[in-house]
Formats: sequence, structure tokens, C-alpha cells
Amino acid sequence: MEEVVKEETRICFYPFLSAASRYVEEFGVTLEDLISSAVFERARLRGKERVIEAIKDGEVRKPVIISNAQAEMELLSYPFARILVSCIGDEYLVRRYALSEAKAAHEELLASTGSSSDTDIIYEMSEEFGIRVDFIGLSHEHAQMKVQMSFVDYLRFTSNLRDKRWKLVNRGLEKGRVKLGRSEFVRIIQEAIYERIKKDLPLDVPADICEAISGYTGDIKKELEEKRKKFGDADFESGSVVKDPSCFPPCISYILSNLKEGVNVPHSARFAVTAFLLNLGLTEDEIIEIYKNSPDFDEDRTRYQVEHIAGFKGTVRYIAPSCGTMRTYGNCIGNDEICEKISHPLSYYKLKLKRKKKK
Ligand code: SF4
Repeated sequence: MEEVVKEETRICFYPFLSAASRYVEEFGVTLEDLISSAVFERARLRGKERVIEAIKDGEVRKPVIISNAQAEMELLSYPFARILVSCIGDEYLVRRYALSEAKAAHEELLASTGSSSDTDIIYEMSEEFGIRVDFIGLSHEHAQMKVQMSFVDYLRFTSNLRDKRWKLVNRGLEKGRVKLGRSEFVRIIQEAIYERIKKDLPLDVPADICEAISGYTGDIKKELEEKRKKFGDADFESGSVVKDPSCFPPCISYILSNLKEGVNVPHSARFAVTAFLLNLGLTEDEIIEIYKNSPDFDEDRTRYQVEHIAGFKGTVRYIAPSCGTMRTYGNCIGNDEICEKISHPLSYYKLKLKRKKKK
């Protein structure tokens, strides 16, 4: 019995795995049961909580699981959370939710003590995500475990990691294989999890189902709106002082200087700088001007992307990514004294601007 509890507990912390989907299928729970039966109210509430935690904290908290029933509800809360995110259909929410789930799984893997079952789950994930790896030093010192993977897979999952240590030239390539420590490999797994979760979202959920669960989505929408009010355009006055580059955080200044010098900047950094400047009140034309030195500059495509982030082509208005997300994508380039006080590049700007005005 104890083993069964352990297995369910283990899977419910990684609900995006195929094994977890099979488990849910075996329960025989129908979609109708999940969205309306009183038996699954706990799973629905937990599903809503998952999404709200993603919006508020940028990470889905893992509860302490002490019974099979609790593990089942935790597992079922994941598909319900995905339905909620899909019914809301906000691209910012999709990315934030996927990232929060991926970060939670990453934390869980890191926090594990290196037992054999934890090594098993890392192995299972490698298989599932198609990462060809060899594990070295498995028998005793699991925390000291090393992994060797092909450089092709390595490049596939590290393209968004900007920190110098991830550059292939800094990795000591041996016969086409890259050697990594356990925690480094777990970080690569996080990227794979993020891609997996985001891939099918938003799901194509029928309108009548979205209507039936509007009581749950309503609370999430309110939370999303709160977040927008806090960091969206409304939080910033318009006028020339708002566009004061001397108050930009180091991450944004760095991306801007790369764009100015014609360095090819990754998509995540382009998105961050565009959303940041839009939130500050720059016009689309002013932002397009910034991209003109890019080696692959195409005015129509850039205009389309900038307008899309501004929300003109649909209802979604994007908010600049938080410091946590910037770090995840390797776009945070350092910590100055203001960075230590804030958790969002827009807060950095506000604080520095305030200090400047006081002076
Ligand atoms: S801590 Fe935040 S504001 Fe500072 S450089 Fe990193 S992402 Fe930018």
C-alpha cells in the first residue's frame, strides 16, 4: 500500500508526463465528471489555485501529499487547470502558467535528495522528451551524478539560456557529447517541460464547457486584471520623462545596446524589450526604429510582431516579463543594488525614476 501511495505521489508532481495521463485515464473520470461532479470539486478548486498561483507567484506550489485520494485530486487538478487556461485564452497567461508548472517540477527535482526513484524520474523524463543521455556514477552518489548528452539535444534545449556557462564553447565537448552535472541537466529538463506544457495550449475547449466553468475562470480573470493594473500601461504616466533610458534596468539596456550594434538578439529578449517599452508608453513606430539595425530586419514582420505584443491585433495586451522569467531565459544580466529590491524590470524603472525625481 505504501508503495502505491509513493507512486501516485511521485506522478502527481509531474502531471505532464504520459504516465500521469495514463493514470488519469485509468480513473475512468469523464470530462463531464471533472467539470461538474461534486466528487471532483476539490480537484477543480485546486486547478483554479494552480492558475492563480502561476499569476501571483510565477510558480505552482506543491502541496504535501499524504494519501492516495489527495494524490488523485492533485493529478486531476492539472487537466482542469489546462481547461481553465484554455477558456481564458490569454497568451500571456498560457506562457506564465506553462513556465510556473515547469519551474515547480524543476524545484521538485532539485529538492529531491538524489534517491534512486528521483534518478528514475529524471531518466523517465529524458526518454519522454527524446533526450539521448548516458548517466555516469548512478550507483551510490546520486547527487554527484553526471550526464552525457549529444550536442544536438543540448543545443535544442539551451537555445533560450543566455548565460555564458551554457554556451557550447564553454562546455568541453567530447566526441560530440556534452557532460553536465545533475542540477544542470535538471535545468535542461525544465526547458523541455515548459515546451511540453505550452505546446498544446490553449486547448480547443467547446464554448458550453467554458460557460459551465465560468465561476472558476471569473476569479482567475480578476487576478489577471490585477496583475495587469500593477504592471501594465496604466501604472505609468506618459510624457518624456517616462522614456528616460538612464532609468532602464541593466537587462533592458543590454538588449537595447545589442540591437543598436546589430547583434542578433534572441526572440525572448526581443519580446521582453518590446513589451517593456510598450508598457512605458513608447509608440510602435518608436520601437520599430530600434530594430532597424538588426541583421534580419524586415519592417512588415517587425511591425506585425510589435503590434501583436501591443494587443492591436487581438484582445491580448502583453506585460513585460518578470525578473524570474528574465532569469529563466538567460536575459537577466546582473544584479545592481536596485535589482536586489525588486522582482520586475518595470518596478526597477519606477524606483530609479522616483529616486531621480527626488534628486
Ligand atoms: S534583476 Fe530584474 S531588473 Fe535587474 S537585470 Fe535582472 S531582470 Fe533586469
